[in-house]
Amino acid sequence: MPSTEPSGPLSGPVHIIGGGLAGSEAAWQLGSRGIPVVLHEMRPVRQTAAHQTDWLAELVCSNTLGSKMPHTAPGIFKGELAVLGSLIVAAGELAHVPAGGALAVDRDLFAATITNALSSLGNVSIVREEVTSLPDPSITRTIVATGPLTSEALATSLKEWTSADDLYFYDAIAPIVNSETVDLDIGFWADRYGDAESSDGDYLNLPMNKAEYEGFIDALLAAEHVPSKDFEEERFFQGCQPIEAIAGKGRESLRFGPMKPVGLSDPRSGRRPWAVVQLRKETRHGTAMNLVGFQTKLKYGEQSRIFRMIPGLESAEFLRLGSVHRNTFINTPRLLDPGLRLRQCPSVSFAGQLIGCEGYTESSAMGLWAALNVAAERQGRELTPPPIGTMFGGLLDYLRTAEPKGFQPMNVNFGLLPEDTQRVKKKDRKERRVERGRVAVELFSRWATDQDLARRDPALPAR
Ligand SMILES: Cc1cc2nc3c(=O)[nH]c(=O)nc-3n(C[C@H](O)[C@H](O)[C@H](O)COP(=O)(O)OP(=O)(O)OC[C@H]3O[C@@H](n4cnc5c(N)ncnc54)[C@H](O)[C@@H]3O)c2cc1C
Repeated sequence: MPSTEPSGPLSGPVHIIGGGLAGSEAAWQLGSRGIPVVLHEMRPVRQTAAHQTDWLAELVCSNTLGSKMPHTAPGIFKGELAVLGSLIVAAGELAHVPAGGALAVDRDLFAATITNALSSLGNVSIVREEVTSLPDPSITRTIVATGPLTSEALATSLKEWTSADDLYFYDAIAPIVNSETVDLDIGFWADRYGDAESSDGDYLNLPMNKAEYEGFIDALLAAEHVPSKDFEEERFFQGCQPIEAIAGKGRESLRFGPMKPVGLSDPRSGRRPWAVVQLRKETRHGTAMNLVGFQTKLKYGEQSRIFRMIPGLESAEFLRLGSVHRNTFINTPRLLDPGLRLRQCPSVSFAGQLIGCEGYTESSAMGLWAALNVAAERQGRELTPPPIGTMFGGLLDYLRTAEPKGFQPMNVNFGLLPEDTQRVKKKDRKERRVERGRVAVELFSRWATDQDLARRDPALPAR
């Protein structure tokens, strides 16, 4: 007998593809609001190159969800997520293991808690299958959350929706620094071939003399880098090479690449520097700047040490360090609306690392936000995104407003918040950040209450 149930993207079950961190959080947010979900997870039928189990929300590498300290960006972010009743944060707290200031978890207990919570919802069907193409968007509401290791067949099919130019298989992340910690007396603002008399320009140029350049190259060549994983193919890096790989081709190659000084004149000497490191604003507030062309596979400790050799960065605070790794992500600023729906086909949403965020918690949050928008659609309303004075709002704002050309993933950091109006000494920075975090979580809570989104923690079984 034909079903008399209403169907179509605005009424049938929501199909979530990918039962990782983002997909699980999205399924929880929808299912616990009474919206039926079909969660498609390909494991164990088909494994990824990094997952080991068939649990939902498996942590593929480290067992930490990042810092929980109130002066850190991840700590503040978790506070905001808790306001929305995040399953991932609640399961993290339930499965925590001692790890100083970090929220580290027993990974099996964490994933089992989430799998059991979703299985017990009743209106979430978990289907173990690989989805190889998107369901028909004229009849199905879909959230795609297949993560950095999206299966090949689905990735191929996604190109029809995103165009090949807006779907990437490797990231190439350059470090970003806290703008307040750059020595502006050493740098000069100018665009290449810009007006030498003008102090305007979009780039802060940090000049190097020959000795400084040579010392920097020596350090780069001797530094330790992160080895590629078995499933990573170096050939993909050719278009966007790590700086140490460029330096490895010859001592002068960086001076003819990202550190080239041509078209720039240092206003203090009136001469072209030997080499230049260019910094460009990363966020629209300009509170964070990235080292242009400095994508790198150096180990984190090596990056902080070596990049502080750059004149002007001796005391720099790195808000994010560089990396180059296998990833699958789309050009979110170009393709998605603020509710993470495809502009050209709003019954398809994207979530998680696939939209260009980095990290377990960030990915979960972007599953949560995609789901809240779907739930709002069902109520016939449109959500206002969280304020940009919050970590959540700042991350969403980055994903919406980043320059589409060269778009790269982002994690939460203080550069996502507007510039601090209060000047503080380095020794007082921690205390000030606790205060800014408290304000951000308060602002977030007010926003969530106004939008009718504030929730209590999920009631999970005691440990
Ligand atoms: C090797 C590696 C190491 C990492 N280490 C860390 C780390 O230490 N810390 C950190 O914060 N982040 C780390 N990350 C990033 C991490 O993967 C993400 O932060 C997070 O897991 C992303 O969540 P997600 O839900 O978007 O994707 P995932 O958690 O990967 O979930 C995606 C799910 O989709 C499923 N899937 C894929 N294709 C299909 C399909 N066609 N049909 C059905 N199901 C499908 C997958 O099996 C998977 O379960 C690492 C990533 C990789 C690849």
